[in-house]
Amino acid sequence: MAKLVNRIQPDLVQQSYVVEIAKGLAITSRAFVRNLFGKKDIVTVQYPEQKVPYAPRFRGKHLLTKRDDGQVRCVACMLCATACPANCITIVAAEHDDRGIEKYPTQFEIDLLKCIYCGFCEEACPCDAIRMDSGVHTLPSYTRRDQKTGKVDLLALAKLSTASQGGEFRATDHEGTAHGRSSHH
Ligand code: SF4
Ligand code: SF4
Repeated sequence: MAKLVNRIQPDLVQQSYVVEIAKGLAITSRAFVRNLFGKKDIVTVQYPEQKVPYAPRFRGKHLLTKRDDGQVRCVACMLCATACPANCITIVAAEHDDRGIEKYPTQFEIDLLKCIYCGFCEEACPCDAIRMDSGVHTLPSYTRRDQKTGKVDLLALAKLSTASQGGEFRATDHEGTAHGRSSHH
């Protein structure tokens, strides 16, 4: 059933808009003066001078971890690139001199414009070689090219892996110092 709505007919004063505009300007002016001298109502963060602290569970953009000897830990198995739903990881593999390592990435690139930060890559990695716990926010850039982060950038954020060389996890103390076996396969 149709519902009748009583429409309020504006009187002549309301139709002139003068009073309503004056009321609106009064509200705007009051807020302006309060914010100018009292800063009571400002909710805008003056980024980049002011930064809101990240939540403790924020993890950050990707990094590649290193072996105990400082080499890249990744063995270019392509599992992360295969698991990536955004298809944004490009890896070029090469033979390693160390026959125990077999392969390593000569090129490792992530297109952060395509990345959806799902974490599948670090979940898929069998070597704890790629992680997303850098604590670094992905910054904006002027070009698309600048959003492609390569091996050098990923290693610049590198941490020593908490896994031993063969992939087993080591116990860590409160300072994050790794203990335990350092098997070199
Ligand atoms: S976080 Fe997800 S989308 Fe981004 S590189 Fe890893 S798997 Fe791909
Ligand atoms: S980061 Fe991990 S999953 Fe990706 S290619 Fe390297 S070893 Fe394989």
